[in-house]
Amino acid sequence: MIPVVGYEGASVAVLGLGRSGLATAHALRAGGATPIVWDDNADARARAEEAEFTVRDLTKQGVWEDIAGLIVSPGIPHLYPTPNKVVAAAMDAGIPVDNDIGLFFRSYATHEWGDFETMPRIVAVTGSNGKSTTSALINHVLEHVKRPCQLAGNIGRGVLDIDPAIDGEVVVLELSSYQTELARSLTPDIAVFTNLSPDHLDRHAGVGGYFAAKRRLFAEGGPDRAIVGIDEPEGQYMANQLVNHASDDRLIRISVDRKLTAAGWNVFARKGFLSEYRKGRQAGSIDLRAIKGLPGSHNHQNACAAYAACRSLGIAPRVIEAAFHTFAGLPHRSQVIAEIDGVTYVNDSKATNVDSAAKALQAFSDIRWICGGLQKEGGLEKLLPYVASLKKAYVIGREAAQFALELGDVDHVICTTMEEAVKAARADAKAGETVLLAPAAASFDQYDSFEKRGDDFIACVTGE
Ligand code: ADP
Repeated sequence: MIPVVGYEGASVAVLGLGRSGLATAHALRAGGATPIVWDDNADARARAEEAEFTVRDLTKQGVWEDIAGLIVSPGIPHLYPTPNKVVAAAMDAGIPVDNDIGLFFRSYATHEWGDFETMPRIVAVTGSNGKSTTSALINHVLEHVKRPCQLAGNIGRGVLDIDPAIDGEVVVLELSSYQTELARSLTPDIAVFTNLSPDHLDRHAGVGGYFAAKRRLFAEGGPDRAIVGIDEPEGQYMANQLVNHASDDRLIRISVDRKLTAAGWNVFARKGFLSEYRKGRQAGSIDLRAIKGLPGSHNHQNACAAYAACRSLGIAPRVIEAAFHTFAGLPHRSQVIAEIDGVTYVNDSKATNVDSAAKALQAFSDIRWICGGLQKEGGLEKLLPYVASLKKAYVIGREAAQFALELGDVDHVICTTMEEAVKAARADAKAGETVLLAPAAASFDQYDSFEKRGDDFIACVTGE
């Protein structure tokens, strides 16, 4: 645990008592503060009481008098679409509002660092898609080179739950826009921005607010090194703002759309090859086609970002390449789960929206596509350019018939359940083809989570 500094002897309110909220309360207490906690959910409050925290209804008037700060969980929309009641009351009382990420950045460094030979470093990864894969991949390379490392944030442990730093350690943080938006302190040594596509627009009052939330990682304090995907105008704009001149190598530009060979420091992937260019000369290359755990150009983008972060940490290209070869991929993200009678089965249950499903469809060929579930706004139109080459779609979900209507001319069959879909796809599939679960929809009509949906797919395929 990281004891929180700056609130010794003070009372600090904690709103939301999920995994990160409870960890925050413990870390505040360990730092000498008195957490005053609240959650609308009675079970969450009971768990906090069990851990001997003071539970106080923060929605009541007059609770703020002796409170020095309010820490809000990432799951709580604090400002948009309408300000949260508790947050609004704290703001009325002039109390600073922060989150666990802000507390972490101000508490991680300690006096003991004075005895270290190599300063600990923090790598923070944000972006619309690929955050988990990129963070896990950086962590995997660090483990491969036996550098002490911890993975935290949206993946792995809560930030305040990690162990205090040791000599030479690297902490890899995956940060969502919800987390970067509220943190009052954001000072990573290396910051990574993978890409931007519209998401969570209610909570950020539109795409501008969403981009602004992500951008804070690069503005507040300024990282020593910024790694920025420039395949969308927002990334390109931000990259440009971060440099003093064209060859400023505090920035590494990333692309999977174009060759970046100009001045400066660049990493790009084209036709399955990753290239690093520095000062106009090639400094490294990797054949990504040979790396099983990173299929498709979306994963090549993640590979470029992770490669750049590892290069910034001084790891050599060949060593990074060797580590990439042993990366197994993350569960439910383009995860190859079996090869049966020459047919490859891929679980991308995390493709809960049209953008990520489109990436998965581009990553494989001769696809038998299992899709459907709880649809998000905007329909399937953006997917249509990629479905033309499909062998067939096998539609699941309670609204399977409605979903199928939007597939246009694509050959399809309505299966409703995963079991039916896998059975039908298996019966049709020939050697060399891929059966791909990439639903382009949320799972909640039939499952508790995308993980449960992916597990069901795996069970239907392997019979276990
Ligand atoms: P995040 O943590 O940002 O949600 P993940 O690595 O968990 O990202 O991947 C989420 C989904 O997006 C998966 O379906 C995955 O196949 C797809 N995906 C992964 N990387 C990218 C990328 N760079 N661009 C677009 N889609 C991606």
